[in-house]
Amino acid sequence: MLTIDNLHAEIDGKQILKGLSLTVNAGEVHAIMGPNGAGKSTLAYVLGGRPGYDVTEGSVEFAGEDLLELEPYERAAAGLFLGFQYPVEIPGVSNVQFLREALNAQRKARGEEPLSGGEFLKLAKEKAGLLRLDMDMLKRNVNVGFSGGEKKRAEMVQMGILDPKFAVLDETDSGLDIDALRIVGEGINAIMRRPDKGVLLITHYQRLLDYVKPDVVHVMVAGRIVKSGGPEIALQLEQEGYEAVAA
Ligand code: ADP
Ligand code: MG
Ligand code: MG
Repeated sequence: MLTIDNLHAEIDGKQILKGLSLTVNAGEVHAIMGPNGAGKSTLAYVLGGRPGYDVTEGSVEFAGEDLLELEPYERAAAGLFLGFQYPVEIPGVSNVQFLREALNAQRKARGEEPLSGGEFLKLAKEKAGLLRLDMDMLKRNVNVGFSGGEKKRAEMVQMGILDPKFAVLDETDSGLDIDALRIVGEGINAIMRRPDKGVLLITHYQRLLDYVKPDVVHVMVAGRIVKSGGPEIALQLEQEGYEAVAA
């Protein structure tokens, strides 16, 4: 479903990704773990097509298409979802407005009819319920005054509404307390654990992986994957640290 091959990318002429390769098949959840500064968020941004992140070598194929040739909105319409480490606040735009615009823009790009206001609200209620987020939260401006946990849950509501084929989730567990962690983990499973979907879960800690069980765990250090294996790698990292495991 997603094949990254020998990916090199730089920001402002500084090489951050240095030959990263991995393949996620449909139905799989892969975790990427790595120390601060390894380039995990850079990888997420490169996949999303953020301006200023220049691919200098390598390729990314997504659902049979050359992902790097697509504009960011085309990547989203093709079914790619990015969950941000630091969700942005958008004063003056309510979550409901934002989510409906985003969904209908994607439907339009796919040649589908927009959802009516009523249909959209029904869908939004269902997904908010899944993440135990009060509908009142969705009437407020995007992320403005939200706690860290509320931002992450609102982002998972967004993922539920957009119903992507593939999600890249960058430290979705950061800032979550124990209860929110479980709710978010169960939400990710409910939305994305399907035979025709894939997930790349970027995380520092193994605790989210107690809820979202990865098929493969990759260790990323200094811009490349240095080790891959089963869920046991996450436990080993927790006990021994990155230096020992990556050595
Ligand atoms: P991680 O998410 O694994 O903690 P990042 O992808 O955020 O790592 O950062 C990887 C490296 O890229 C770090 O050394 C960081 O300082 C650098 N970096 C990130 N953004 C920029 C930028 N806009 N300009 C220059 N360097 C950057
Ligand atoms: Mg970091
Ligand atoms: Mg990061």
